[in-house]
Amino acid sequence: MSSKSTRSEATTTPGASKAQPAAVSNFLRAVIEDDSRSGRYASRTWGGKPGPAVTHAGAAPDPWPIRTRFPPEPNGYLHFGHAKSICLNFGLARDYGGACHMRFDDTNPAKEEQEYVDSILDAVRWLGFDWGEHLYYASDYFDVLYQFAEAFIERGCAYVDSQSAEEMRANRGTLTEPGRNSAYRERPLQESLDLFRRMAAGEFPDGAHVLRLKIDMASPNMNMRDPAIFRIRHAHHHRTGNRWCVYPLYDYTHCISDALENITQSICTLEFVDHRPLYDWVLEKLADFGLLARPLPRQYEFARLNLSYVVLSKRKLIQLVEDKHVEGWDDPRMPTLVGARRRGFTPEGFRAFAERIGVSKADSWIDFSVLEECMRDHMNETAPRRIAVLDPVKLVIDNYPEAQEEACEAPNHPQKPDWGKREVPFSRELWIEREDFAETPPKGYFRLFPGNKVRLRYGFVVECTGCDKDDAGNVIAVRCTYFPDSKSGTDSANNYKVKGNIHWVSAPHAYAASVRLYDRLFKVPNPGAERDYIEDLNPDSKHVITAQLEASLRDAAPDSRFQFERHGYFVADRVDSRPGAPVFNRAVGLKDSWKS
Ligand code: ATP
Ligand code: MG
Repeated sequence: MSSKSTRSEATTTPGASKAQPAAVSNFLRAVIEDDSRSGRYASRTWGGKPGPAVTHAGAAPDPWPIRTRFPPEPNGYLHFGHAKSICLNFGLARDYGGACHMRFDDTNPAKEEQEYVDSILDAVRWLGFDWGEHLYYASDYFDVLYQFAEAFIERGCAYVDSQSAEEMRANRGTLTEPGRNSAYRERPLQESLDLFRRMAAGEFPDGAHVLRLKIDMASPNMNMRDPAIFRIRHAHHHRTGNRWCVYPLYDYTHCISDALENITQSICTLEFVDHRPLYDWVLEKLADFGLLARPLPRQYEFARLNLSYVVLSKRKLIQLVEDKHVEGWDDPRMPTLVGARRRGFTPEGFRAFAERIGVSKADSWIDFSVLEECMRDHMNETAPRRIAVLDPVKLVIDNYPEAQEEACEAPNHPQKPDWGKREVPFSRELWIEREDFAETPPKGYFRLFPGNKVRLRYGFVVECTGCDKDDAGNVIAVRCTYFPDSKSGTDSANNYKVKGNIHWVSAPHAYAASVRLYDRLFKVPNPGAERDYIEDLNPDSKHVITAQLEASLRDAAPDSRFQFERHGYFVADRVDSRPGAPVFNRAVGLKDSWKS
């Protein structure tokens, strides 16, 4: 992580909500504060919803008028990288008393689906952000975008090009060679206008013509070489149906959508740096035409999130799902927000992560353990403690009466006495972890072995007397005797000093549940760096076990999280749990096991 540009000044922001961690300054905050001081957007008035009324006529200016937006394409599920962008855009709007617009960049009719729109809205809400009334679709602007395109043609700034795709590619030039003008570049305005209208009327097949801006085929910036802004696509659109058979392209759509919505800072990732001149060119022209009012939005670029041990490209995520390397978009191992939610990761953890990594203009890699640490920190504070035996073996207390049972008290959180205690049943037969018994103890082993005493946490002190084995020599039960006056919380308990302290659940009361132990999806930090990323998948990323859990966990509601003492943080799966029969997923261990 580059720390210089992002973390140097630890100033906090005026208006930052108290519930949020104090924001660390960064170059975007500096831009916003600068714009505010200079009153760059102060002359702007805000006219409610955007639309064809594009002159910004309307109500009084916002007190601190910033408008950001989060503009996903609805062609996949959101991933951890998007979380960075969401926290950034919505977080800035929140901290400066502005608004962040939720906008679907739905200009590509073929790839987009309502399922994705719904899941994206759900994910943003889950992360804790609210767009209020500001939910927009680029497709809302198809009419305006079309009108503006005619305006470009009428002013000699756009033309219909009828070259084939191959000709266009050949004439585009390269990074070192200028492009060549199309033979159609100087066709009369009226002819272009007529053709464009006929394109929109459905007279031509896909690819017959495109509408291009007339900028400069010799520009060193490829994006400025007469970019196409409308193409023919005879395709059904998820919102506009069959109304259109010409669709605007991304660069043209994006900047105009920003302007129509009165966006102030349009924040995107670094690969758009070379698109910025086009962004400005289109908006300046439209303002010159009198179709948009100044001040115009400005684009700023930040470094995208690169996270080790995952892939964050939609194309790769789709392949993981389609080729069934995972069990769906919401597989708890997927770096998607729906996956993270099932995994037990928390919105608070993501927001803390976004703060911790900051934003900068230089690309960097963040280690996956940073994200895990943020989740662990949050769950340490918020998850009640419970007891779970993941690899159970019986412990039989030979001197405890067979029909007897009693209650022991366990705290719900060791540092939060106000969370109270709960009763856990104790009886003659318990489940303990197999690794808490050793017939011949290794050096430094303080747990159960013949002749040794340990405390059963929150319960009694027991002394191990031996074990039962099956014919193959496997231990099937550990045997011990207990000291009736050693119960935790009683005065006489203090008479017992033992080194080992192990957890347990009462066997007749325990809830046998399916528990999924997830590990990282990839076994190397940078999947695909050395070979096909599929070969870097971790074959041991999921283990399903039957664990013996404390009885109260039977009632765990889906999505509720717990610390299983000594094991880590677990969540009741929101998909596979049934009332009275929750299934648990391990979100993250108690410490960074990958580092040690
Ligand atoms: P992909 O390249 O995987 O297809 P994308 O960037 O095309 O993803 P969009 O739906 O267009 O996906 O992204 C919506 C917003 O999320 C964009 O503003 C984009 O800059 C931002 N974003 C996407 N990936 C990352 C990332 N890894 N880090 C930060 N922001 C990201
Ligand atoms: Mg994109």
